[in-house]
Amino acid sequence: MENFNHSVGRYAPSPSGVMHLGNLASCLLAWLDIRKLGGRLIFRMEDLDPDRSRAEYAESIASALSALGLDWDEGYPDSGYSQRERTPLYEDIFEILLRRGMLYPCYCSRSRRLAHGEKCRCRELSPMQRQDLYRQGRKCAWKIKVPDKRISFTDGHYGSFTENIADSGDLIIRRSDGVFAYQLAVSFDDMDMGVDRVVRGRDILPSTARQIWLISELGGKAPEYCHAPLLITGGDRKLSKRFGDLGTDKLLERYSPEELIGYLGALLGISDGASVRASDLIDDFDWSRVIKNDILIE
Ligand code: GLU
Repeated sequence: MENFNHSVGRYAPSPSGVMHLGNLASCLLAWLDIRKLGGRLIFRMEDLDPDRSRAEYAESIASALSALGLDWDEGYPDSGYSQRERTPLYEDIFEILLRRGMLYPCYCSRSRRLAHGEKCRCRELSPMQRQDLYRQGRKCAWKIKVPDKRISFTDGHYGSFTENIADSGDLIIRRSDGVFAYQLAVSFDDMDMGVDRVVRGRDILPSTARQIWLISELGGKAPEYCHAPLLITGGDRKLSKRFGDLGTDKLLERYSPEELIGYLGALLGISDGASVRASDLIDDFDWSRVIKNDILIE
């Protein structure tokens, strides 16, 4: 019988490199989570960053997922599922937030923004000061005013969190080159696509409360979140595409999909390490079995 109340999950990779073992771990968990629930999985391409996103990486991520039996029900490569294509929708949201007085221009340079201890004062600029900077032709990013507000949520893997979202600061939602930022796109897309289960690496846990708030400001209902442990290399560095760490395409030249899933399953605590198909892990999948600590890959 058709299940009309199905859950909706998503893969949301950024095609800024080939998929590495850490991304794959999150995708495997997202897949198991939604398959166990009998839901639908959307594959959205988070390709907003024009400097780093490439079509060939998107293809290689999709082919690695397919080779490993991690299928999806809608999305890539169909149109409407890449964030670059969805930009007109973000324009509309941007206008709405602007009209509601929730946005302000930020003139800090990227280096200043990243500099430790430098506080951005752009939120306090007077209309006159803003006009001066505008007249000088200074480029600005756009930030959203995050209010003094406590948000509580329960992560399906890491438990309960309560935080005052103002403590983590205002969010950049549009870069100075006009490109929309991840925080706006991800919040809007999860809401717009009816996603109600988000499984992703726990590096994004610190942004979650602000995304929940942003979704509610946009009139939506936030999904449930389950964050996944990260795979790290010696020195506590997160595996990264930038460093070319453990690309799944290269691993698939050396190992069978079953060997790779078995290995990853053992790292995550959900299988005994023997070769296995992803589909064989669905029945016993339970978040209580997934380890919580980050996983050191030697
Ligand atoms: N696009 C992000 C990444 O590849 C994931 C964002 C998310 O899952 O919210 O790291």
